[in-house]
Amino acid sequence: MQPALQRLLWVLLALAAVRSVMANEVFVGAARDSFVAGQPRGQVTLKTLVIQLQVCGQGPATTPEKLAAALFEGEAHSQPETLQGMFSSCSYGNADFSRSAGCEVVSATVPIDCSGKTPWGAPFDSLTCPYTEWSDVANDYVKHVLGINWEDFKYKVYVVPPGELCSWGGMGWVGCKSDCRAWISGDLWMFPTTWMHELGHNLYLNHAGSFQPLSSGGNSQYIAYKDDSGAMGHCCSTRCFNAPHSFQLGWSKALDSLSKGNFAAGEWRSYVLPPRVGPSSKDVNLIRVSPDWDGPAAAYNFFLEYRKAASYDAGLLPSVRDKVTLYSTPVGDSMPFTTLEVAMGQNQISHESRIGSHLAIWVGSESAEGMRVNLCRPLSDHEISCSDGRDDDCDGFIDEEDSDCQARTTTSRKLLS
Ligand SMILES: [Zn+2]
Repeated sequence: MQPALQRLLWVLLALAAVRSVMANEVFVGAARDSFVAGQPRGQVTLKTLVIQLQVCGQGPATTPEKLAAALFEGEAHSQPETLQGMFSSCSYGNADFSRSAGCEVVSATVPIDCSGKTPWGAPFDSLTCPYTEWSDVANDYVKHVLGINWEDFKYKVYVVPPGELCSWGGMGWVGCKSDCRAWISGDLWMFPTTWMHELGHNLYLNHAGSFQPLSSGGNSQYIAYKDDSGAMGHCCSTRCFNAPHSFQLGWSKALDSLSKGNFAAGEWRSYVLPPRVGPSSKDVNLIRVSPDWDGPAAAYNFFLEYRKAASYDAGLLPSVRDKVTLYSTPVGDSMPFTTLEVAMGQNQISHESRIGSHLAIWVGSESAEGMRVNLCRPLSDHEISCSDGRDDDCDGFIDEEDSDCQARTTTSRKLLS
């Protein structure tokens, strides 16, 4: 295998090991709409200091100019997709990661020894990738050697050298108050999704995953990165945060919230979901469902949205591209790991089954405004009454239209003849 190809494969494998550091945060209450105290919501100014490291003679990953071109719009040779553009587009203008927000790329590289001590006297061995200690050393260096007060920046991102010093693609503290830190692999700095993911952790987001069947059979297992639709999933395809994470940040809003109190069984509700981003997108774009008509399912919230391949969702993989996606989160968890339950294309009908709500989702056709989606919660697995005007089993056929009723009619006719 070519060394470059080997390196790429290694980086891709290392992504599976991307980890997060849980900060000590206090969860508030167990109410369905609770958010962590201090969690940024709505308008967010991401005043960030970006620091490149050269460790034990390795690095830096790139030049400050190329780094700025990947991060900011309007730089010389800016990439077609920048982190600034991604935050702005995915947040409907709420999140500001820009020069005018005070973001800076340090023009000098910070040198770090193969081994040494932090300003606080803690010893470190750089071969073990002690990224927290490196950030302490880097902060001290930029302050006392370069004259940049790192404490003026709420967010600090450290670009570690490319290569095998660190076995991850990125790292970020999950939730932080005034001192927020994230680390980016020197192999992945050119992907805005890597930055969005780690800064997303700083913004109190956990991972986006899904349940996958075990190769050995039996029960499926939650895989924390296996959500092709959310930037809190795996690297590196360009895509916004998924519906529950965007809702957590106050960027996406619900066009309706359904529960048994306002969502009668056997009655179809019809909506047009605008695309998450791109032309005709709106920030009021998701449907929340509390499946409280079922005991075990009541422990979850559902979110539905439409993900069209446009703008910063243009990189959506085929599994979720141009599809209506359903997510679940545990009720009462204000920093949830999100689960992608199903992704559906036009003219498909599906009944949610993993959690057991049996919520019926019927995706219709796309119009200029968005994708038609119809929802129904069943009363039963068959038509109970053939004359009540309801679709008791939510299969799309009401009363006599349903084969359940036709069978009964046929039988009774036979008996009569
Ligand atoms: Zn992560």
